[in-house]
Amino acid sequence: MNVYAKAAMISCMKAIFLFCLFILSFSISANDIESYPIFDAHIHYSHDVWEAIAPEDAIRRLKAAGVTRAMVSSSSDEGTQRLYAADPDFVIPVLRPYRKRGTLDSWMYDDTVIPYLKERLARYRYVAIGEFHVSPEDVATPVVRQVIQLAKQYDLMLHVHSDADAIELIYQQDPNAKILWAHAGFEFAPRVDQMMSKYKNLWADLSFRRDTFGNGQFISGWKSVYIKHADRFMLGIDTYTPQRWLQINEVMAWQRDLLRNLPHDAAVKIAYQNGQRVVAARFKRHK
Ligand SMILES: [Zn+2]
Repeated sequence: MNVYAKAAMISCMKAIFLFCLFILSFSISANDIESYPIFDAHIHYSHDVWEAIAPEDAIRRLKAAGVTRAMVSSSSDEGTQRLYAADPDFVIPVLRPYRKRGTLDSWMYDDTVIPYLKERLARYRYVAIGEFHVSPEDVATPVVRQVIQLAKQYDLMLHVHSDADAIELIYQQDPNAKILWAHAGFEFAPRVDQMMSKYKNLWADLSFRRDTFGNGQFISGWKSVYIKHADRFMLGIDTYTPQRWLQINEVMAWQRDLLRNLPHDAAVKIAYQNGQRVVAARFKRHK
């Protein structure tokens, strides 16, 4: 072998070695649940947190726990705008109809809500309206009807905290509504399965769903629902009180335990792919 052929062979072997190293490191990190990036579909940064935790600090805490992108809605929207201004590549704003704590069961009777939402929609960009609480009895109120219409008009998702019956009533008003169902409605596995099979534009976040999985065990029927609808679920910490900001790592430990007990392809979808594909891509489209 002449000197050129030898040099060529060595550099070829080097390239193969580096390529193998690259593949190996990629597959190790892809399989390592602790390093999955997390898309969080349920963050609030409400008025009683602003003084205690500055926007940069709030984002730092989420990133330290592994969150790489977050849907944020706040009471009032000022909190969301502060976080968004601090890191527009991290925050995806969602417009909440609440301006302060304690209005979750009365907001649909407040005539000032719609002008407030219209004013915000004219000024800022959002991916959804929510998270709002609604019971089946309240879906037909003029305020809720107008919220559903505003989402349609602005091509926004709805982030809805309700049971399955209220979701059905929203789809009666707008069969093309795109709904992120907070906490999967706290419904049992068969009802969630039925809803997701029936409505293709229904996604769900799993915040506060420790009743579906704990200590390495899935509860009654949940594993098959998670796998069957793996392209519809997202994670969420739901920082609904100042106290909850102190529990981020504990919630994340449960989330990672859940992911660890799912097949790899379902776990990566639920961890971040669904959020990127459904929510982040949608927000980009709105630019
Ligand atoms: Zn919430």
